[in-house]
Amino acid sequence: MSQTTLSDVVPLRVETLTKIFRQGNTAVEALRNVSLTIHHGEFVAVMGASGSGKSTLLHVLAGLTRPNAGRVIVDGQDLATMSDYQLTCFRRRHIGLVFQAFNLIPTLTALDNVLLPILADGRLSSAHRENVLHGLLTRLGLEERSRHLPDALSGGEQQRIAIARSIVGDPSIILADEPTGSLDSVTGQSICRLLRELCNEQRRTIVVVTHEPAVAVWAERIIVLKDGQVLSEFRTSECPDAHLLAAHYQDIVTAASTNEVPA
Ligand code: ADP
Ligand code: MG
Repeated sequence: MSQTTLSDVVPLRVETLTKIFRQGNTAVEALRNVSLTIHHGEFVAVMGASGSGKSTLLHVLAGLTRPNAGRVIVDGQDLATMSDYQLTCFRRRHIGLVFQAFNLIPTLTALDNVLLPILADGRLSSAHRENVLHGLLTRLGLEERSRHLPDALSGGEQQRIAIARSIVGDPSIILADEPTGSLDSVTGQSICRLLRELCNEQRRTIVVVTHEPAVAVWAERIIVLKDGQVLSEFRTSECPDAHLLAAHYQDIVTAASTNEVPA
């Protein structure tokens, strides 16, 4: 009989997801009937225009937002079965989050920012601290910067610290919302390369939300959202550079608008 290993468990699966935001009398359907599966060690980019539901999808995957309907299964577990407290603990161990604005705590050093999830989980020992400093931060080229406050670091260094923080608890999944959105293009590419390495070397599953073809091209698969729905998906092997990818993406979006029935 074959044994089930962790790598057999699909890290992310959502089924018929709907998320509605209500404000007064208006309701915005941010996600409509979204179903998708992301496999172990896959690097997926979610693209779409502003307001298409990309961040909402990421927040639902992370259990930061609960959907109105549908299921979210992370590392084999249905998030709907968890209380908010259980969800917080689960998230710390399974999901690393990276944001456009880095979201570092300004009064903590770079090292303490990285250690925060372990501290919050009550797992921090001095050996752990040394391991993070000489292991993870050295790996990311940040050992020399460990005692600086975020303000004293460049944008690229701050995002590397945020990525270090996202993986310090050894999650299998990294979810990144426009991780290069506040960086110049060269620094942005170095962040993409780092995410790619974390996928290749450590078999982490990565989902990056972006509207930039130069970022999406680092992924294996692109999921295109429009008005809260999955419009299309394709593999980057079909268009292996950013210009080809941009053209293909534009074709998909244009075809969808051409086919729309005018209201
Ligand atoms: P994207 O990240 O693709 O720009 P979002 O997921 O942020 O899109 O938003 C999708 C839609 O949901 C937008 O119309 C947005 O205004 C709406 N929305 C997102 N978050 C909220 C919220 N907390 N309250 C009300 N509406 C929201
Ligand atoms: Mg967004």
